[in-house]
Amino acid sequence: MENQYDVVVIGSGPGGYVAAIRASQLGYRVAIVEKYSTLGGTCTNVGCIPAKSLLDSSEHYHQAEVQFKAHGIQTGGISLDFTRFIHRKGEVVAQNTAGLLYLMKKNKIQVYHGVGSFTDATHLKVTATDQTETVLTGRYFIIATGSKPSTIPGVTIDKKRIITSTESLSLPEKPASMVIIGGGVIGVELASVYARIGTSVTIIEYTNNLIPTMDSELGKALQKSLRQLKINILLGSKVQSATNNGTNATVKFLDPQGAPQEITADYCLVAVGRRAYTDGLNLPAAGIQAEKNGKIKVNAKLQTNVPHIYAIGDVIDGPMLAHKAEEEGVFAAETIHGGHPHINYALVPGVVYTWPEVAAVGATEEELKAKGVEYKVGKFPYMASARARASMDTDGFVKVLVSPKYGEILGVHIIGPRAADVIAQSVLAIEQEMTAEELIRSCYAHPTYAEALKDAYLIATGQGAINI
Ligand code: FAD
Repeated sequence: MENQYDVVVIGSGPGGYVAAIRASQLGYRVAIVEKYSTLGGTCTNVGCIPAKSLLDSSEHYHQAEVQFKAHGIQTGGISLDFTRFIHRKGEVVAQNTAGLLYLMKKNKIQVYHGVGSFTDATHLKVTATDQTETVLTGRYFIIATGSKPSTIPGVTIDKKRIITSTESLSLPEKPASMVIIGGGVIGVELASVYARIGTSVTIIEYTNNLIPTMDSELGKALQKSLRQLKINILLGSKVQSATNNGTNATVKFLDPQGAPQEITADYCLVAVGRRAYTDGLNLPAAGIQAEKNGKIKVNAKLQTNVPHIYAIGDVIDGPMLAHKAEEEGVFAAETIHGGHPHINYALVPGVVYTWPEVAAVGATEEELKAKGVEYKVGKFPYMASARARASMDTDGFVKVLVSPKYGEILGVHIIGPRAADVIAQSVLAIEQEMTAEELIRSCYAHPTYAEALKDAYLIATGQGAINI
């Protein structure tokens, strides 16, 4: 009985801890297994939370340096205590991991620290760092083992000069220069952190746009904003190798014309994506086969080919995002309980925490064009927003894509101040199948960043904006 559980969750990231809490709320005896000493997974320890902490600190520094004067604030010379900068991030992470431990206790979830490894389809061996082994028996398992940074041919991560996002969040000193391979979400966020505190940053991106999976207008507008931060952005460039020279790293690449180029910087940060992580799980013992790309295949109920073993989050298909993993955590627990939960994968918002922030939900213009779907565009610039002018955050726009027939909202794409928060209304509106007209008839507080949406819908429906 001691080590017997109804639900054993493997991995304590946003997928795992949410699944464990929901399963416990539904009355199950739950264990969670985490190989590291703190709970929270990538998101809490080396992802969303530390990245946002450094983004906030660096944004304050940058504002003090370049914007305070315009507000009439005189500071004298400012300087950055890099050790404190990194230390504060650690404090934020510690608060969050402690909060998760509290939530496990509150929900009577048994926490096991160690590597979880299947011995068969109903038993999981947990090996702690001191090599002690505990075997857990489960009626159900939820695999939530997440992902790890990946790399490209010719680039070997050594965690010293050729680093991943994980090392970049805890560097020992402020780098004078950094070259970042990859202009996706993680690349542009970390480029912002370091460029704001004075590091000379170059982004090398293979495609012809930044954040290439999002609506292309967002990437183009983001390029402009990041260039204002003096970030050197090299698009259409193919990295061939990265070499650790001891005190710096050299990246060799082909420029858009195919000519060989190289850049040497203090660090080379590899931000080319992440791979599903199942090392050590011994999936075959449970009868589960991972796919070629390492992901675990699941059906629409998130069950693996072994029906009482579920998999969620970064380790399965879909966007590698914390809120997607959380939704799946609830979904798996409720499905085990016999419920019929629902996740609308088309409406998982994508967010980039640069400044201006970028956030989007629904179809991009490129997707609608490819599918031959008719749409009208409503685009409202933050330059025309009273709220944005008050805070001097006028870069960016709101772009809504609306079906001309019934006013169905097909997609919302925002680059602007607090876009990450402003997008919430659009997720709800599309989920609830609201029309552009219904959103126009709703009252928006003035002055707010969200008001820009109302004008964008007025433009998309041909009624004409009030504010431009
Ligand atoms: P993870 O969070 O990766 O957790 C998996 C856990 O399983 C880990 O703790 C791991 O140690 C443990 N584990 C693995 N194998 C075993 C085993 N055999 N036994 C025991 N434990 C095991 N997403 C957002 O939505 N918003 C953001 O702002 C954002 N920012 C990010 C910034 C960075 C720099 C990075 C790297 C990622 C960011 N992400 C963000 C992505 C987000 O972190 C992931 O999508 C999310 O953490 C996935 O959650 P998960 O539960 O699937 O897995």
